[in-house]
Amino acid sequence: MQAAVQAFKDHLAPIIDLRAAAAVLGWDQETYMPRGAIEARAAQLGTLGRLAHELFVADETAELLAAAQKEVEGMEYDSDEASLVRVAERDFEKATKLPSELVAELARASSLAQQAWQEARSEADFGRFRPHLEKLLELSVQKAEALGYEEHIYDALLDEYEPGMTKSEVESVFDRLRSDLVPLAMAIVAVDREKHSFLLSSYDIQSQWDFGVAIMMDFGFDFERGRQDRSAHPFTTTFSINDVRVTTRIHEDFLPAGLFGSLHECGHALYEQGISAHLERTLLAGGASLGVHESQSRLWEILVGRSREFWTHYYEPLQERFPGHLGDVDREQFYRAINKVEASLIRVEADEVTYNLHIMMRFDLEIDLLEGRLEVADLPEAWNAKAEEYLGLVPADDAEGVLQDIHWSLAAFGYFPTYALGNLMSVQLFNRAKDEIRDLDNQIGRGEFGELLSWLRDKIHRHGRKLTANELLERAAGSKLSEGPWLEHIRRKYSDLMGVDF
Ligand code: ZN
Repeated sequence: MQAAVQAFKDHLAPIIDLRAAAAVLGWDQETYMPRGAIEARAAQLGTLGRLAHELFVADETAELLAAAQKEVEGMEYDSDEASLVRVAERDFEKATKLPSELVAELARASSLAQQAWQEARSEADFGRFRPHLEKLLELSVQKAEALGYEEHIYDALLDEYEPGMTKSEVESVFDRLRSDLVPLAMAIVAVDREKHSFLLSSYDIQSQWDFGVAIMMDFGFDFERGRQDRSAHPFTTTFSINDVRVTTRIHEDFLPAGLFGSLHECGHALYEQGISAHLERTLLAGGASLGVHESQSRLWEILVGRSREFWTHYYEPLQERFPGHLGDVDREQFYRAINKVEASLIRVEADEVTYNLHIMMRFDLEIDLLEGRLEVADLPEAWNAKAEEYLGLVPADDAEGVLQDIHWSLAAFGYFPTYALGNLMSVQLFNRAKDEIRDLDNQIGRGEFGELLSWLRDKIHRHGRKLTANELLERAAGSKLSEGPWLEHIRRKYSDLMGVDF
């Protein structure tokens, strides 16, 4: 073992521990924490964030990094050591640009903002959230200015979630996507006129939960190294490769919300559980980017979970669980229902065709906010105008409009585009998996996912943060990020499903 790299790892390990401890507190805040604890929790998260940051930007880190850099010269690009040093260098450079007070202030303000957002959302009252959002926007601008950027302030924030990606690159992908998707989505919506009220009747919550958990186990989620709980907004968080938490929210009167929410978060968790054990307690134990992360969740949720093959296997067990609801509904009817395409207001419950429209409208609004062309006070109105422009719908209140997502309460500006990028990547990867795994459709039709999971483990999961999104995509899918395969998937699937040539 290289002495300098080992010393550097030893120095970083407690920082990883502090971040994991903060993640535990963050998870608890979203799941079990009593409301009265919010001030204390905000202070605790602020302290942990500041300590981790101070340790990371210390002079000692720079010295140990320099020594490790010398030692990995000439080592293979993919080696754990060279990769750790490369990624640490990038993280360190960014972290040293951020003042500790700003880091602590962001952690504290966003902890308070989350509580305010939850209350504002439950009362559909944007006014309660507004001062928090103003504060977070101001801090995010400070953060972006501190990090620096070449072309646009958005680039600095986007880079936190999708390293190396810029606003102009996202814009050019979105422009091409929009010009094909808007007419395509309208054409599909116009044909898809069926109503499927059977999904809306009252489904027992525990039975929904159990059915979702059984599928997660079939997918390969390891409950010895993770668990699922309930939260207001589904998410996945990781305390260790051996402790990956998912949350879900189950609606009694809308079956797909909880079921596909669980499969989605399971896809994220399989990525985290599949990272090579060698990378545990290092900076490399995480996803390459949020786009890559989302490619995993969408692959399992949509390309597997909403496929005809999948329900060949799982529909009978579902019918047996809910005979009163689904006894008279045949499999094809159910398949059409869970793939119904219609303009709707809530992003997390949107179908796969219109989903990316939800992302594009948020991207537009974030750019306007960061460029100072839009005031937070005017955001609800601007939101409603965008919803009408992209979806042809106006929210009845702010709860189903501007308050629906948690992201801005986390100061996560620049996060939304990664959802759409992940959708595009998921199809590029799944197409290649189908080429390389003979019989994959039939395996899915038998409820067998071992080969698919092994393929993803090998191509994506095990590498953690060693490779960038582009490197992973080019190696695994043999191509750069592209909207073409996703559009082709949508055309093919819905032409088949509707019997109309789109
Ligand atoms: Zn996701």
